[in-house]
Amino acid sequence: MTTYVCGHSNPDTDSVAAAIGYATLAKAMGEDAVAVMQSSADKLNPESQVVLEKFGLAAPEEITDAAGKQIALVDHSDIAQAPANIGDAEVVAIVDHHKVGDITTNNPILVNCQPVGCTCTVLNEMYKLNNVEIPKDVAGAMLAAILSDTVNFKSPTCTDKDKAAVAELKVIAGVEDTDALFMDMLKAKSAVDGVAPMDLLFRDYKDFDMNGKKMGVGQLELATLDQVAAIRDDLLGAMKETQADGRHTVLLMLTDVVKEGTDLVVVSEDPALIEGAFNGKLDGTSFWIDGMMSRKKQTVPALQKACGC
Ligand code: MG
Ligand code: MG
Ligand code: MG
Repeated sequence: MTTYVCGHSNPDTDSVAAAIGYATLAKAMGEDAVAVMQSSADKLNPESQVVLEKFGLAAPEEITDAAGKQIALVDHSDIAQAPANIGDAEVVAIVDHHKVGDITTNNPILVNCQPVGCTCTVLNEMYKLNNVEIPKDVAGAMLAAILSDTVNFKSPTCTDKDKAAVAELKVIAGVEDTDALFMDMLKAKSAVDGVAPMDLLFRDYKDFDMNGKKMGVGQLELATLDQVAAIRDDLLGAMKETQADGRHTVLLMLTDVVKEGTDLVVVSEDPALIEGAFNGKLDGTSFWIDGMMSRKKQTVPALQKACGC
């Protein structure tokens, strides 16, 4: 039976690269596996498109429904981020670097979740443990995913393991200058010209259930906040529309990768709850949080605490 290897919805580069990386490893070990993603190739985020093109990899096939399938999850273990009807699928593996989600299984499965900066760092170790050589193109995508998820090592989620994995993968991939690779990716991911505000909000976006409150958190990593100065009202409009669609709160992290902080834009039924969560005061519709780079390690835990999770 084929195992479909799938990252989270609104896939980022890690979700795509880890799906390819895990499927390639499973195939090398004699299993029938295929990388898939919850997006069509042309809707893939611009950073991932650049990465796949740079390393000559095809985009994984799109999956819309998990029912009846055998699935390996990478880069998530939350039902809300998994393909539709995941409850009617057989989940056979989870490889991840997030908090453990709410997926449950009837049978024992392979789980490898580690507190590192990127799923591909975990995968790099799995290749070594299984004595499988990583193909050059796959190593390139895995390398790019680690640079992306750790924001070129600047994110508080970055660990020594991630740095060591990059040092190994760059050799296999034949990449000399990882800073240059990161800048090419940042250019692609922070390009906003001609992109619909709703697409920008959902470019890197996740929904969470926090004590019965549906909370959405998007993030745009930017070289400078000036990049979005002219479209703030449009982004706010997209956020309001998204919140009206059954959410308690929608946040958009406008993260300045150079200044290493985030202007947090807030649309919420209870703005005071968000101010309290981050110890800030709204200045209009947003507030600046120095040092905030990571949704996973900084934004989500603070929100969960505020929601009494
Ligand atoms: Mg991810
Ligand atoms: Mg990741
Ligand atoms: Mg990310």
